[in-house]
Amino acid sequence: MTAVDGVLFDIDDTLVDTRAAFGAALAAVAERYLPHVGADQHPALLATWRADANGHYARYTRGETGYADQRRVRAEELQEAFGGAPLGADGYDAWNAVFEEGFARAWSAHPDAHDVVHALLGSGLAVGALSNASVAYQTSKLERVGLDATVPMLVGVDTLGVGKPDPRVFLEACRRLGTEPDRTAYVGDELDVDARAAVAAGLLGVWVDRPGPRRVPVPDDDVAAARAAGVRVVASLAELPAALGLTAS
Ligand SMILES: [Mg+2]
Repeated sequence: MTAVDGVLFDIDDTLVDTRAAFGAALAAVAERYLPHVGADQHPALLATWRADANGHYARYTRGETGYADQRRVRAEELQEAFGGAPLGADGYDAWNAVFEEGFARAWSAHPDAHDVVHALLGSGLAVGALSNASVAYQTSKLERVGLDATVPMLVGVDTLGVGKPDPRVFLEACRRLGTEPDRTAYVGDELDVDARAAVAAGLLGVWVDRPGPRRVPVPDDDVAAARAAGVRVVASLAELPAALGLTAS
């Protein structure tokens, strides 16, 4: 008797090493648009991009701005923060082409992703994806990393017009997966938007807290509160089957 009948995955920085892909994309745009920024500064570029301090991507996931608009504003903010020239409307399109080409070329699955998906499917669980990007974009990402056949993209931010942490997207993903929310785990790399939001929606929340720099600081008190609320914490996807009570057969 397992605790769950199905597992829903976040995609970026959970199944796919998006942090590394952003690093590749930002190195590509920096070479052309921030030529005075040396390679030693590229980690700072990546940290600034991922932090998204002004919350533009979060506004997109709430349906308050478009995908292209949020990226355009973030690109201009990055130029300003690192002493580059404004891109302007025409310049942004060229910037984005360089960014997107470098980003997509670097998409790859985390080394632990394929094995855990096969382990879950082998245990008879249903598996799918719920992401805060669009269905088409994430489907192409799953295809690129070879997970499209095993992890169907079920719900994106464009499915209902809002994204996580809205509970409706978790419930819609369960409906499409064919499992009851209280018999479904949601696995993601963000404590609040993924694991805690999943718990709030009635699912089992699992936080993947991999070693290395976090996207945003996570106070110890927040982790303790999440654990108290029922969130399970793993350091890699390899720990997931045990965290879900699955034993090797
Ligand atoms: Mg993520």
